[in-house]
Amino acid sequence: MARESVLTFTERGIYCPAGDFFIDPWRPVDRALVTHGHADHARRGHARYLATEGSAPVMRHRLGDIRLETARYGEARRIGGATVSFHPAGHVPGSAQIRVEVGGEVWVVSGDYKVEDDGLSEPFEPVRCHAFVSECTFGLPIFAWAPQADVVAQIEGWWRANAAAGRASVIGAYALGKAQRIIAAVDASIGPVLTHGAVEATNAVLRAQGVALPETVPVTAEVKGKDHPGALVVAPPSALGTPWMRRFGAASTGFASGWMRLRGVRRRRAADRGFVMSDHADWAGLNAAIAETGAERVFVTHGYTSAFRAWLETQGYDAAVVETEFEGEGLDSPEAVADSPT
Ligand SMILES: [Zn+2]
Ligand SMILES: [Zn+2]
Repeated sequence: MARESVLTFTERGIYCPAGDFFIDPWRPVDRALVTHGHADHARRGHARYLATEGSAPVMRHRLGDIRLETARYGEARRIGGATVSFHPAGHVPGSAQIRVEVGGEVWVVSGDYKVEDDGLSEPFEPVRCHAFVSECTFGLPIFAWAPQADVVAQIEGWWRANAAAGRASVIGAYALGKAQRIIAAVDASIGPVLTHGAVEATNAVLRAQGVALPETVPVTAEVKGKDHPGALVVAPPSALGTPWMRRFGAASTGFASGWMRLRGVRRRRAADRGFVMSDHADWAGLNAAIAETGAERVFVTHGYTSAFRAWLETQGYDAAVVETEFEGEGLDSPEAVADSPT
């Protein structure tokens, strides 16, 4: 009898026949293993969830009263005929890759990942495997990130100049991950850091679980720009250009995203400044991470899948594209929408 594949790709998501569970499924299932709390991975409607301890609070915050079990990084669990474990993905605090072993064969699902240590997320750990299911949101050579310290210095320079000119600096950043990364990294001596409600709600969840974030001032109805001169305001991208911004008076807008590498996107975004900062691996990061797994088979998902698959074939991998129902963190993705002000 031909041995069943460790993971299969179904219309509900990635499925493990030996363990009868799904990974990041996009339709309701009985048992979902979830890599992290972003909306395109942690969806409503599953009967049971399993995720890391670090992802659980934000999943409960976003999904409400779900039946959720937690695992520590590296802790092996038996589910049916499969052994599963979660390993740091370096994407956002608590994010994980999921390792699945059946009969000695190991497959790893990356979820979203980045290889640079952002100082806040548990740093990415390569996991040896036979087959690797990798995201490739930024799987083109033009996506090459500068070190985080350089991008933070650019943000600080923009913030300082605005403060000196009496303008607020409003930066658009996803409410889970990017926002906290900026808050934690910038030099707070430049001025006060204000937060949009969607960002502050996530900050509160992360602080409660022990993530060390500097002090921030939540923007409430009473907060006026003139009360906080020279402020850096961290808001979800969807808040830029809305009436919510009026309270800050004269303001410069910035947007922090890997997509800012694309000039056309920068223009369409109508932000004064684009900062190329992503919570995903760049081209070099993807290639390094894949090489470190030692995998012979690579399945690619999210982003520039066909180009990236073709590239991997030239590098000697047995590569294939996995179709997903929804795309990841594009500008109009479910993730961006989910991070809208609420
Ligand atoms: Zn994500
Ligand atoms: Zn994603």
